[in-house]
Amino acid sequence: MQSDLLWHPFTQEKTKGKQIHIERGEGTKIFDTDGKSYLDMISSWWVNLHGHANLEIADAIYRQAKKLEHVIFAGFTHTPAVELCTELSKFLPESLVKFFFSDNGSTSVEVALKMAYQFWFNVGERNRTIFLCFEGAYHGDTFGAMSVSAIPKFHDVFKELFFKSVAIPFPNTWDYDDAAEEKEQNALRVLEECLESYGNQVAAFIMEPIIQGASGMKYSQPSFVKKVCELLKNYGILLIFDEVMTGFYRTGKMFALEHVCIAPDIICLSKGLTGGFLPLALTVTTKRIYDAFLGDGFNKALAHGHSYTANPIACAAAIASTGLLSRDETIKNINKIVSIQKENLEKLYSMFSSVIMRPRCLGTIAAFDLDDKSYNVKDISLKLLNMGVFIRPLGNTVYLLPPYCISQDELVYSYRAIEDCLTIAL
Ligand SMILES: *Cc1c(COP(=O)(O)O)cnc(C)c1O
Repeated sequence: MQSDLLWHPFTQEKTKGKQIHIERGEGTKIFDTDGKSYLDMISSWWVNLHGHANLEIADAIYRQAKKLEHVIFAGFTHTPAVELCTELSKFLPESLVKFFFSDNGSTSVEVALKMAYQFWFNVGERNRTIFLCFEGAYHGDTFGAMSVSAIPKFHDVFKELFFKSVAIPFPNTWDYDDAAEEKEQNALRVLEECLESYGNQVAAFIMEPIIQGASGMKYSQPSFVKKVCELLKNYGILLIFDEVMTGFYRTGKMFALEHVCIAPDIICLSKGLTGGFLPLALTVTTKRIYDAFLGDGFNKALAHGHSYTANPIACAAAIASTGLLSRDETIKNINKIVSIQKENLEKLYSMFSSVIMRPRCLGTIAAFDLDDKSYNVKDISLKLLNMGVFIRPLGNTVYLLPPYCISQDELVYSYRAIEDCLTIAL
């Protein structure tokens, strides 16, 4: 076998070193070909909900694969798609009633952007061509998604090719932040100025509600997000919530929108949708937006679709995962994770308050920034890996985002391991 055939994502190939060869997974653990196990403390890039190789999801996939593996989704429909949307609609705001399938987070964002843009086109407000986003936003790696993202390190090479978007400051607050109010006021002021000068040319504001993932688990208070949404409403601007990361109880609620009590015009879902088994995404919107695409000819229709749209096997995995999320046992464990994270992050912060900055906890996600003058964050994650704990810091941000089947012992062990690494390195 030739492993040098591969080019890995988000990786400097020259310095990448040896990639760990994983053979199997079980629950919270992944096992390499030497049999060494690692606790997957980032849920494999935030997709895994119920642990690896979950038997119920695996069985659902097997059963569906034997019945119908795939069928074109134009001119045809199927039960797994209908059943999945029916189940999910029970968790979503009543106004979100039209479900459009695609394959991954980036495509769910592309669909949302096209829906928003074409909505205004179809209703005759063709000057609405600008998109707003937050500084530090990450919405995916395709061109539309990159155009509304604002992480220079990832996307700057391509910026000449992007369409028009404006990034509003993101408060980036934390659990003990005295300056939260001031930062929020500043962001709101910038937003108001933008809206006053060209609010009626804005098609939509896309945001990761409350917590930005890829830019480093950056936090803003729900009350702030609410104020932003209210300002947008005055200008009729569409609101897109990208819940690709925050969805499915990551923030302690099924969807982060529940923290702000706001129903967006469009929501993007992916990552945890299938419990981390198969790529699948949904862009869900309102009847109002949907209706603007109706007409006698094709010209008003949404010209978008992917070969694997609404793949039945992926839908079956998503139905099984949603079923698991509906169980009391799962919710109990999620709530337990929330309190263990909070308690242990506080403890860690109290032990290392001179080198840990901006500790923040939201739902099942815990994050902090390490003073990189005192620590080499890469060394810390390597040490942790040797101790059987897999994390993948974002810059100097260390975060734990575990699968929901994690036991108290495993989670506490991860904190003790971090504690040991920080102690040794000091
Ligand atoms: C990961 C992510 C995406 C992109 O999803 P992919 O499946 O990687 O294309 C979009 N938005 C957010 C908030 C994400 O975290």
